[in-house]
Amino acid sequence: MSEFSEIAISVLGSTGSIGRQTLDVCRNLGIRPVALTAHSNLQLLEKQAREFLPQLVVVAEESLASSLKVALADTPVQVKAGPQALEEAATLPQAQSVVGAIVGMAGLAPVLAAAKAGKTIALANKEPLVSAGALVTQMAREHGARIIPVDSEHSAIFQCLHGGERRDVAKILLTASGGPFFGKSREELKAVTAADALRHPNWSMGAKVTVDSATLMNKGLEFIEAMWLFDLAPDQIEVVIQRQSIVHSGVFFADGSLIAQMGVPDMRTAIQYALTYPRRYPVRGVPPLNLAQIGALTFATPDRSTFTCLAACEAAARKGGLYPAAVNGANEGAVALFLEGKITFLEIGELVQGALEELNLPREITLASVLEADAAGREYARQFYRNRGSK
Ligand code: NDP
Repeated sequence: MSEFSEIAISVLGSTGSIGRQTLDVCRNLGIRPVALTAHSNLQLLEKQAREFLPQLVVVAEESLASSLKVALADTPVQVKAGPQALEEAATLPQAQSVVGAIVGMAGLAPVLAAAKAGKTIALANKEPLVSAGALVTQMAREHGARIIPVDSEHSAIFQCLHGGERRDVAKILLTASGGPFFGKSREELKAVTAADALRHPNWSMGAKVTVDSATLMNKGLEFIEAMWLFDLAPDQIEVVIQRQSIVHSGVFFADGSLIAQMGVPDMRTAIQYALTYPRRYPVRGVPPLNLAQIGALTFATPDRSTFTCLAACEAAARKGGLYPAAVNGANEGAVALFLEGKITFLEIGELVQGALEELNLPREITLASVLEADAAGREYARQFYRNRGSK
């Protein structure tokens, strides 16, 4: 028995990059996952279910659940499918914490459900906060749910905020690795393939977030995510390239001091911190930082005219309302098209920028209007592809 065996968690998106690393942390500390969810990776979900024997596993569709039920018939694990079952996993009474590690807007409904149930939410899934930050944070406030960021930059900011008083915060430093195409011109990026974009220099992540890192869309989404998590105005967020991904972000205080958090780039540190907060324990497999070996830390201003997704997100954040939701939806559509080889790397930025400039959205933020703005962004992406084909 470990001191953590009393801690039970639900892992939404357990078969993904963050989900698998979360289970690694569970193995290390002896935390018990009581619910695991995936979209369609039955093979891995079955393996995880056999290892951890959670109460519930959830997949996207009934047909998938039927095969998994057969495969897990010799275990006590319940298998369910669909959106309602996903919400059940997010609100299981046995789980104190819920890890939000689904990719994209598919994570919105379960994150809202977890907030409504007053859970502690270790949140990696940034898209729900970007699109529906007002709703998610309001739901969390009303039901006493706590959101602890897992995104490494936001985890860093969360940690650095402990170094001073909230009223003395001047602005935050949001660092970016710059991705695989740092320093490249638009001309050089014309022929980039999905395989090129999926090769990140410092982090090993799922496909969507890896492409987002290459376009700097990821930093733009994180910009908006930070506004909601830490209640900041756009002018209080400064994005700086930190090429080695060692300075994970920080907070500037009123006296000009910058408190920053550093570490080896490995998501297990941020995941584990979110689950054991405020305590810290060794993270198995993650060595301590060896600064002498790293030698130099370099910083630079992002190139917004090449990586237009970052500029589009910052503009969407300033425009406010439903624009972040539309821009996020357009990007999800664009990344899917890019991964299918249907649009070019640079067109992702053109498409996202176009959605920001051309869509006319109502002001009122409700769940329905957020979903409509998200759908409008995705439709904009489809239309962009159709028009491209007819050129
Ligand atoms: P992955 O693509 O590796 O994993 C996504 C997970 O979500 C999988 O379990 C997948 O199931 C599940 N999933 C996908 N689509 C759906 C759907 N429609 N309904 C229900 N479940 C679904 O993503 P990552 O782990 O890389 O990223 C997860 C989130 O965390 C993203 O929002 C990302 O931006 C954020 N993040 C990721 C980081 C990283 O290092 N990877 C760092 C910081 C933030 P299946 O396997 O069956 O497809």
